[in-house]
Amino acid sequence: MNKTIAKDIVYKLREAYPDATCSLDFTTPFELVVAVMLSAQCTDERVNKTTPALFKRCKTIEDFVNIPINELEEIIHPCGFYKNKAKNIKLCAKQVLENFNGVVPQTMDELLTLAGVGRKSANVILLEVFGIAQGIAVDTHAKRISNLMGLSSNKEPEKIEQDLVKIFPKDLLKDINHLFVWHGRNTCIARKPKCDICPVNMYCKHYKNN
Ligand code: SF4
Repeated sequence: MNKTIAKDIVYKLREAYPDATCSLDFTTPFELVVAVMLSAQCTDERVNKTTPALFKRCKTIEDFVNIPINELEEIIHPCGFYKNKAKNIKLCAKQVLENFNGVVPQTMDELLTLAGVGRKSANVILLEVFGIAQGIAVDTHAKRISNLMGLSSNKEPEKIEQDLVKIFPKDLLKDINHLFVWHGRNTCIARKPKCDICPVNMYCKHYKNN
């Protein structure tokens, strides 16, 4: 795919979703780290209903380190996988405090040393907290859209990310991160994509083949 088409995909998606932004609520970098961890296998809507009570109870990174694990598990229970998530949140808080003087790090390599933070989460944190768009957070939406459109034939998120980064110009990566999520939620829906009204169907392999 040439760069002109790649740019046009972004422009058309931008037109369709002018309000596309991160839908997780947070006010500090570490709150976003926690929200991203909670969003694994859970909707952002559910996470946003859960975090107000959590962020009221834990106002500092020290609070996340010190909160009894049972209490943390109870608060985040609605987000699923609460035992694992609670363990990672506490360990991650300890690592940020001890290894980074309580400041969420700003590089991919450093973020990947934190418990519960994988490449997808690190990309979201870099983008939303620090405005650094160096990659693409390949979630379930980005994966599905990339495969359907023929932007990548890979199945592993990291390989899909490598394919997308080659296709889309660097200055558009930030948009793509948001736009794919919104496109996946609103039009390229998993069970029944609305191909007839899709703004980028002229560039979609799945559409052309059906
Ligand atoms: S044409 Fe259909 S499958 Fe292709 S991106 Fe649009 S909604 Fe998804």
